[in-house]
Amino acid sequence: MWEKLLELVFGKNCELRDRMLRTIILVGGLVTIIGIGEIFLTMELNSLLITFLVILLVVMGSSLFITFKYGKYDLAATLIGFLVIVIVFPVMFLLSGGLDGGPSIWMTLGIFYMFVMFTGKKLAIFTVLCTVMYGGAYLLAYFRPDLIVPMGSTSAAYIDSFFSVFAVGVCTGLIIKIQMKVFEEEHRQNILQREELERASKSKSIFFANMSHEIRTPINSIVGLNEMILRCNPGGETRDYAYDIQLASKMLLNQVNDILDLSQMEMKKMKVVPVEYQVKDLFMELVELILIQAEKKRLNLYVDIDPGIPSVLYGDEKRIKQVILNLLDNAVKYTQEGGVTLIARGEENEDGGITLKVRVSDTGIGIRKEDIEYLYDSFNRVEEKRNTRIVGSGLGLAITKQLVELMGGEITVDSIYTKGSTFSVILNQQVVNKTPVGTIAFAERGEAGESYRPSFMAPEARVLVVDDNHMNALVTQKLLSHTKMQIDTASSGAECLEMAKKKFYHVILLDYMMPGMNGPETLEALRSQENGLCRETPVIALTANALSDGAQMYHEQGFDGYVEKPVQGKVLEAEVMQFLAPEILELQVQGTDGEESLRVGRTATKRRKKIYVTADCVCDVPADLLEKYGVKLMYLYIRTPKGRFADTREIDSDSLAQYMTAESSSVYADGVTVQEYEEFFAEMLTEAENVIHVSMASGIGGSFQVATAAAKGFDHVHVIDSGQVSGGMGLVTLMAAKMVMDGMRTEEICAEVEKMKNNVHTCFVLPGADIFWQSGRTSALVARICKTFHLHPIATMRQQKLTLTALKGGSLESAWRKAVRRHFRSRRKVSRQIVLITHVGCSVKQLEWLCKEIEKCVSFDRVIIQKASLTVACNAGFESIGISYYEK
Ligand code: ADP
Repeated sequence: MWEKLLELVFGKNCELRDRMLRTIILVGGLVTIIGIGEIFLTMELNSLLITFLVILLVVMGSSLFITFKYGKYDLAATLIGFLVIVIVFPVMFLLSGGLDGGPSIWMTLGIFYMFVMFTGKKLAIFTVLCTVMYGGAYLLAYFRPDLIVPMGSTSAAYIDSFFSVFAVGVCTGLIIKIQMKVFEEEHRQNILQREELERASKSKSIFFANMSHEIRTPINSIVGLNEMILRCNPGGETRDYAYDIQLASKMLLNQVNDILDLSQMEMKKMKVVPVEYQVKDLFMELVELILIQAEKKRLNLYVDIDPGIPSVLYGDEKRIKQVILNLLDNAVKYTQEGGVTLIARGEENEDGGITLKVRVSDTGIGIRKEDIEYLYDSFNRVEEKRNTRIVGSGLGLAITKQLVELMGGEITVDSIYTKGSTFSVILNQQVVNKTPVGTIAFAERGEAGESYRPSFMAPEARVLVVDDNHMNALVTQKLLSHTKMQIDTASSGAECLEMAKKKFYHVILLDYMMPGMNGPETLEALRSQENGLCRETPVIALTANALSDGAQMYHEQGFDGYVEKPVQGKVLEAEVMQFLAPEILELQVQGTDGEESLRVGRTATKRRKKIYVTADCVCDVPADLLEKYGVKLMYLYIRTPKGRFADTREIDSDSLAQYMTAESSSVYADGVTVQEYEEFFAEMLTEAENVIHVSMASGIGGSFQVATAAAKGFDHVHVIDSGQVSGGMGLVTLMAAKMVMDGMRTEEICAEVEKMKNNVHTCFVLPGADIFWQSGRTSALVARICKTFHLHPIATMRQQKLTLTALKGGSLESAWRKAVRRHFRSRRKVSRQIVLITHVGCSVKQLEWLCKEIEKCVSFDRVIIQKASLTVACNAGFESIGISYYEK
């Protein structure tokens, strides 16, 4: 029972504040009961005070019940707070002697409670309440001492005060003590859990490292033996199969490496290991590696390496290669047609080093804007559905980013969904040799095996290969066989020592991990071997552990070099060669004859404009103005019984209006899909870095909503609701385009246009009310009445919607006149800059007459007459006009 109560009060599932409340209620309740006892002992029976304390007990009891039963901690805390601070303590103060008794001490408990239980607004409210009530009680006691019920005697006052000091002190002490105990216990549990987690994470990492070792060992055999097959120049299908094995092993190896890297990063064991490296070799190797893959997919590879980059740099070459290769790999993987571009630039930095800027671009599927933030998460593949056929684990970019950051660099991505991506990496490197690398002649190396020639011959050299795995020993032996060296094998450390006693070896290749005596133990024994012939022989470690700080570790253990498994023939040859004396070494010069220039192109990067303003084609601006301001239009579509046509591009408004009149068939604007907008934006983004799209009013047609949805997929597309259609929208578009010409930034333009678009006004005069009927804003009857009585609706754009403002009977021209007078009545407000008249199928005479009418009211600097777009035409009908202008 007691334990159950404790569990209820201090239960682990409770939040700290809730537990505090329960403790306070319990301790407070206990003290209140003692307090009632104390009143009986020290004072005459003060029934009012006792009643209050009993009420307090009841409230606390019911609050406890509320918290247990319904979990309404906030309600209970507020209830108690209100009762104690606003009622009980101030009243107690008045009923038991004011300053003479103990209540003033109890009041401090109220303040303590308030700060523990409340935060924010509630705390502020209670602070005010507390100040008012406590202050009120003190003021009352000061000015009207007659209202205070005095303590029965001086001794009673002393006892009450002593009891209060004691009770309040114990109360707060107990509350804090209990909470500290609970906190300490939880803290202990947390530490235990953390240790447990660290242990689990460590064993996971050890497991990954072991697994990587176990997988590498057989891969070594596969890759090595496959290389031997390729060296035999097999033909036909065998050759293809061998290449497929090579590719599959590489992929498997990459996965294993990724997992190992990740576990090293998680354990914070990944280190940057800087070395001196040749820039030319770095890029040559990268291009060689990626070219095979690019060619398999018939993709072009463009490479542009700044010839001014210093030839020898100092940095973690292995990791830089891994980063760039990862990006190139992805670029090829996610591109189906077009090409991949690798650009590298070097800029001198303040530290005397250089800032290496590498960019990998592709013309592939691109990445949606909302996916970009998840791109670097481990095991996360964006757009899984679209990429199901592309193999990947979602680790590459996570590792790439961490590696770049580890090297103090930065990685960024700029992608146009459906058009391609550009990943940029910036790294600072120290310069070892300032001589520029010059133009790197990427030569066609051919595929491995085709033109294999050993890099040296050394028939007199004796090499011992020590590996417990028979197959791997064989692979190493075979890979070196073309060098004509004399190669022996041993299957254990002990056997190696035996052989080293009998024969001198120029180089020993020693497997690092072996049962019995492992690599380092064998090495140690070898170096101090009595009568040993190989005490001074260089020993190269063969290792299936790919650790970031491998070089340093093997060096510290006394190895002269190391080669990672799976062993590559060329790497192995180079490593052995450096330990062979020149007298026994015959170098093989790799011929350059017959090397064609590579299928690697030079880049021709087109400069993109900073900002493009685009608009829906219903903006109705003359073509020459669009061209002058560089505005691009998005075509909307019209559906007729004869098919779907792109507005303005495939059919013009006059022919449509005539068609509508002649055939009286249903013709309507057909919504553009999100995908069509996406294609349009993607196209625009290939030519400009930012796109500001001015869309037709959000209350009409829904193209604003569709464009906004499509823009979500891109990083640099901003959609503005023009609040207008036709000429009004045209004026908003021109406004934005002008700001671009003035050199304003994208964000500034968007903000400015949002503010200024309200200064654009448009009125329409329509031949009939059909459009209002069709859009459900009037009944069919009204439309019919308009038709019968020749009533012409006059409408304006208000709050993104077309609103009917008047109906004018009589001739169409009289309706035009009325609209003109109505709008230009207050001439002072109208800007004389420009007026844009849009029309559907009006005659020249009619338009001249309209211009004269406008001229009578306002003399505009520029009057533009423009045929309305198809979408507007089919909604407004034959002989409708629109007049748009700016207000000052
Ligand atoms: P994966 O093994 O899936 O390729 P990565 O971490 O390398 O893992 O990439 C994560 C995700 O980022 C990929 O699944 C892919 O959706 C996207 N991605 C990476 N690079 C590109 C690119 N060049 N073009 C398009 N999408 C890419």
